[in-house]
Amino acid sequence: MWNYLLASCLVLFVSLLYHFYFNGPASIVERPNTHYDYIIVGAGTAGCVLASRLSGISNVTVLVVEAGGHFGWVSTVPILAPVMQGTDVDWSYSTEPQMFSSKGFWNNVQKVPRGKGLGGSGQMNHLVHSFGKPEDYKVWPKGWSHADLLPYFKKVSDIMNVMSSPEEEYLAEAFLMAEESLKLNNVTLQKGLFTTKRGSRWSTFNAHLQNAWNRRNLHILMNTLVSKILFKENSIADGIKVIYKDGSVGKIAARKEVILCAGAINTPQLLLLSGIGPAEDLDKFQVMDRWIFSFL
Ligand SMILES: Cc1cc2nc3c(=O)[nH]c(=O)nc-3n(C[C@H](O)[C@H](O)[C@H](O)COP(=O)(O)OP(=O)(O)OC[C@H]3O[C@@H](n4cnc5c(N)ncnc54)[C@H](O)[C@@H]3O)c2cc1C
Repeated sequence: MWNYLLASCLVLFVSLLYHFYFNGPASIVERPNTHYDYIIVGAGTAGCVLASRLSGISNVTVLVVEAGGHFGWVSTVPILAPVMQGTDVDWSYSTEPQMFSSKGFWNNVQKVPRGKGLGGSGQMNHLVHSFGKPEDYKVWPKGWSHADLLPYFKKVSDIMNVMSSPEEEYLAEAFLMAEESLKLNNVTLQKGLFTTKRGSRWSTFNAHLQNAWNRRNLHILMNTLVSKILFKENSIADGIKVIYKDGSVGKIAARKEVILCAGAINTPQLLLLSGIGPAEDLDKFQVMDRWIFSFL
């Protein structure tokens, strides 16, 4: 009996060791090539989908550059999501002190967590999913009605394992009845959907990037910050400037496109750092002056 238990533990230990240390994805590289067809900035929710879809085309090369590293096992447990806030997998932004809102917060300042690492905010979010209601799409342009989009919703539902919790059926019914009887005009109550698989987080990192990360035409560069988009004379983006983990700086060229997926805060920041944005903001921080001097 004890021999059997010991042997099982040993097998488990060796397979875990193999899984974590020797069986790394082939796409993860320490140093990139000089050129790729597509460069994706940020391996978050959007970046993981694009990396997988583009590298599905076998005759193109794709590089994903991610500022962070791996999220640990904590990210796999949905209920532990808040634990990751303020740690090294969070950009840990906060707002300016607000004049008219955030009164319940110290100094009227709110925390703005953003995921940093493979999977991005999708590795630390609360997994709630919604396609909205059919009426929401009424004002959308032609070709984007709820009916037009249904096949895509179905595809996303299948890939992302969008599901609801059957245990809470009676609660959802009570809320829906409340909505009806209260006749609320601006409030919509809907049963929550979420993306999990066998109780674990199921994000685009799991559904898309992990499926692709042994492809030979996909490279993933982690712990590397993109500090600027580089342009040809005709203002067409043709590469990026990066700061590697050890502080050294490099340039990587894109033959076709540089695709920004750095999130709602870092994408505009990167554009500004690259000289794209309102002139008064660029002047205030002398972005263009620094930009020109970096060429000299
Ligand atoms: C705590 C929390 C809870 C949330 N809960 C929900 C929810 O329940 N339901 C829901 O629908 N949404 C939720 N969201 C929002 C949702 O997670 C985001 O809208 C979505 O993940 C954004 O995807 P993205 O690809 O735009 O950016 P992200 O997923 O944030 O990815 C951006 C990636 O780019 C990287 N990056 C940024 N700058 C650089 C740079 N200069 N160089 C290299 N890499 C860079 C980042 O490290 C990151 O990995 C939540 C978000 C948070 C933070």
